[in-house]
Amino acid sequence: MTTELLATPSPSTATGPLADAQAQLAAAVETLDYGAGLHRLLASPRREMTVSIPLHRDNGAVEVLTGYRVQHNFSRGPAKGGLRFSPAVDLDEVRALAMWMTWKCALLDVPYGGAKGGITIDPRNYSVRELERVTRRYTSEILPIIGPEKDIPAPDIGTDERTMAWMMDTYSVNVGYTVPGVVTGKPVSVGGSLGRPSATSRGVVQIALAALAHNGLEPRRSSAAVQGFGKVGAGAAAFLAEAGVKVQAISDQYGAVYAAGGIDVPALAEHVELTGSVVGFAGAEPMDAAALLELDVDLLVPAAVEGVLHAGNAGRVRAKVVVEGANGPTTGEADAILQANGILVVPDILANAGGVIVSYFEWVQGNQAYWWTADEVEDRLARRMLAAWENVLAVSKARRITLREAATVTAVERVAEAHLTRGLYP
Ligand code: NAD
Repeated sequence: MTTELLATPSPSTATGPLADAQAQLAAAVETLDYGAGLHRLLASPRREMTVSIPLHRDNGAVEVLTGYRVQHNFSRGPAKGGLRFSPAVDLDEVRALAMWMTWKCALLDVPYGGAKGGITIDPRNYSVRELERVTRRYTSEILPIIGPEKDIPAPDIGTDERTMAWMMDTYSVNVGYTVPGVVTGKPVSVGGSLGRPSATSRGVVQIALAALAHNGLEPRRSSAAVQGFGKVGAGAAAFLAEAGVKVQAISDQYGAVYAAGGIDVPALAEHVELTGSVVGFAGAEPMDAAALLELDVDLLVPAAVEGVLHAGNAGRVRAKVVVEGANGPTTGEADAILQANGILVVPDILANAGGVIVSYFEWVQGNQAYWWTADEVEDRLARRMLAAWENVLAVSKARRITLREAATVTAVERVAEAHLTRGLYP
C-alpha cells in the first residue's frame, strides 16, 4: 500500500493520554511503512466541537460548563464513542479517547469510526435534575453532528443508562420522532440491548482468562487486583470471582480494600450501593490505594482512569498479566518498563472492547426493531472477543511485537485501507 500525500506531521506538543495515543499511532505507521501524508490523515480528528453549557443550578445560580465532542474518523462507518462526565475532561483527553475508539472499532471489525465526548464536571456535586439539564443542553448543542448514521454516543466515566435515555429523548423530541439508534447503552425499556450493561466487564474477563491461560495460569489458582469499582471494575471483579479467581484487592477513588482469601464481591457491591464507596467494607481490611497496583497477584485489572501505571510505579508492578479495563491506564514509559520486566499487557483497545461490540449489537437490533436474547448477545460477544484475542496474538508472534503494537497495527491497517479505498474528495 503506497500513498504519499506530501504533508509532514508536525511535531506534537501533546502531553498525557494524547501523547501516548499519538506515539502508538506513530509506531504503527512506522511498522506499516506508511508515508507522512497518510500518517497525518490517521492522526487528525475529522471534526471537533466545543460547546458552552449554561446551567440553572437548583439554588437559582447560573453556571457555564464546557463540553466537547471529537469525531476522530469516519472511514469505516459512523463515529462511535462514550460520553464522560469528569472534572479531568479536557479537549486533549477527548481527542486521545476518540482516536483509541477508532482503533478499537477497527480491531473488533465493527463498522464504525471513533469519537468521544466529555463535559468538565464532577457529577457528585450536582443533583439528578441538574445533571438532566446539563445532559439535555449538551445534547441539543451537539445535535447537528450526532445521529444513528453520524455519531452514536454511549456511557463512560460518570454517565450511565439514564444519561443515555435523556440524550435519546432530547434528540428524538428535536427531530420529531423516536430515534433509538442515536445512543447505545440505553435502558432496555427504550430499546437498549440485553447484556449491554455487563458487556465491557464480561469481555475484560474473557480476555483476562485467555491471557492467564496463555501464561499457564488456571483461574482457580490465580489471584487478582482490580482498580475501579464502577461499571467496568465492579463487573470485572464479579465475573473474575465467578470464574474462581481470588480477587484480593479492589479500589475506587476513595480508597482500597484487601482480603488475602479473596473479597466477597457481591457483598462489597451491596456495601457500595449503600455507602457510595468500597471504604469501610467490613469483609476486608483497608489498604493503600496506590499499593494495590503493586500487589503480588497474577492479574492486575486497572479499570478506572488514564495514566495510573507510569514511570514512577511501573517498575514495582508484580502482576504477571495486566489487562486494561480502562482506556489508557498505562503510559508509554510504563509500557516499556512492564515489557522489559516480562509482564504481559493486554491493551485497552482489545481488552475493554466488549462494550462497543454489544453497543454495535444494540444499534443493529434497534435498526431492525428485532431483539435478541441475552444468551445470543453473550454468545456473539464471547466469539468476537476471543477471535480478536487470537488474531492479536498471531500478529504479535508473526511480527515479534507487543500485544499493544499488534492490536494498533491491525486496526490502523484496516482504517488506512478504508481511507485509501475511498480516496480523497475532491
Ligand atoms: P465509572 O464512572 O462507572 O467508574 C469509574 C470507577 O473508577 C469508580 O469506581 C471510581 O471511583 C473509580 N476511580 C476513579 N478514579 C480512580 C482512581 N484514581 N483510583 C481508583 N479508582 C478510581 O466508569 P466506567 O464506565 O467503569 O469506566 C472506567 C474505565 O473504563 C474508563 O477508562 C472508561 O473509558 C473505560 N471503559 C468503559 C466502558 C463502558 O462500557 N463503561 C467501555 C470501555 C472502556
